[in-house]
Formats: sequence, structure tokens, C-alpha cells
Amino acid sequence: MNNDIKEVLYSEEQIDHRLDELAGVLTAKYQDKNPLVVSVLTGAMIFTSDMLKRLNFKLNVDLVDVSSYDGADSTGQVKLVSDLKSDVNGRDVIIMEDIIDTGRTLKYLVQLFKDRGAKSVVTCAMLDKPDRREVEIEGDYVGFTTPNEFLVGYGLDYNNLYRNLPYVGILKRAVYAN
Ligand code: 5GP
Ligand code: MG
Ligand code: MG
Repeated sequence: MNNDIKEVLYSEEQIDHRLDELAGVLTAKYQDKNPLVVSVLTGAMIFTSDMLKRLNFKLNVDLVDVSSYDGADSTGQVKLVSDLKSDVNGRDVIIMEDIIDTGRTLKYLVQLFKDRGAKSVVTCAMLDKPDRREVEIEGDYVGFTTPNEFLVGYGLDYNNLYRNLPYVGILKRAVYAN
């Protein structure tokens, strides 16, 4: 599995350190707000759970499953595969995402939750690839700004593989180009 990785971009230690910083900022902002933390499956699973352990305030957790990728290509179409169990009306919502790429997924979710009456919606993304942006959206809280490469590990997959790598790495092109 590790042989398929061209380069480790963010090691486990770097990620741990950055998550401490991000969680500190959120903890300062969300005291007494009891926000709903929404994790975007499946990629944000590991990021979300590592962040949750560091968030020191009352919160609720829910999940959405959204799909837009096929292999290493963005299809440009966002599909809501599985919806929240919670009502977001009147709630402060924090969306946890693995990576912002074209921006379509987050733009779609932010709009959806606002339309449902959320009091506030912010985005917290482990990674941000701004060179690839196609719609206007900014991550409110971002772990790392990445180069324009196809990344795997720490939740991010290629055909549902490599999610369990403890670091974020660049997948060798030979693995997905043919
Ligand atoms: P969007 O294009 O809507 O901003 O991103 C949609 C989803 O595509 C992300 O949540 C993520 O799951 C996936 N994605 C985008 N860039 C990458 C990447 O470099 N590697 C992997 N594994 N998934 C990506
Ligand atoms: Mg995702
Ligand atoms: Mg994926």
C-alpha cells in the first residue's frame, strides 16, 4: 500500500499538531452554542473523529453522505446519498469535510442547511486545494492548503482504498492513470 504513494505531504505528527490548533480556535468560538457538527461521509470520517476528541464544548453530531467523485475524477454533480437525522432549523452548524476541491460539495451543503433554516453554517476542512476551485466558496477553518495533486490517506480514498493510511500522501499517477 505504501509503495503506491509518491510522497507523504502531511505526516501523522503534523496532522496531530494542526488539529490541536484548529480545535483550539473552534473551542474558543463555540462555547455555549451547542452546535451541530456534520461530518461528510466517507472521506471526513477520520478527520471528524480526531477533531471531535479535541472539541471541548457541548455539541451534537450527525452525518451526511454526498458523492461527486468517480475514481480520480470529479463528475461535477453533487448527489445527496444519505441525509441528516437532525433538524438544522435554528442551529449553528459546523460542516466537517476532508478536502475542498471544486467546492461544489460544500457549496451545495451550505446552501441546503441555510435553506433549512440553520442559524449559521461554517465549514471546517482538513485540506483545501484552491487551484481546482470552480464555484465560489471558502473554507472557514482549514487544516492545510495543498498543491493540485490527487491525495489519499487519512480518510481520503481512491476507489475506496487508502483511507486507512495515517498520513496524507500523493498517489502515484501510475496507480490511477491508464
Ligand atoms: P468538491 O469537488 O465537491 O469540492 O470535492 C468533492 C469531494 O471530492 C471531496 O469531498 C473529496 O471526497 C473528493 N476529492 C477531491 N479532491 C480529492 C483528492 O485529491 N483526493 C481524494 N481522494 N478525494 C478528493
Ligand atoms: Mg468528501
Ligand atoms: Mg472519495
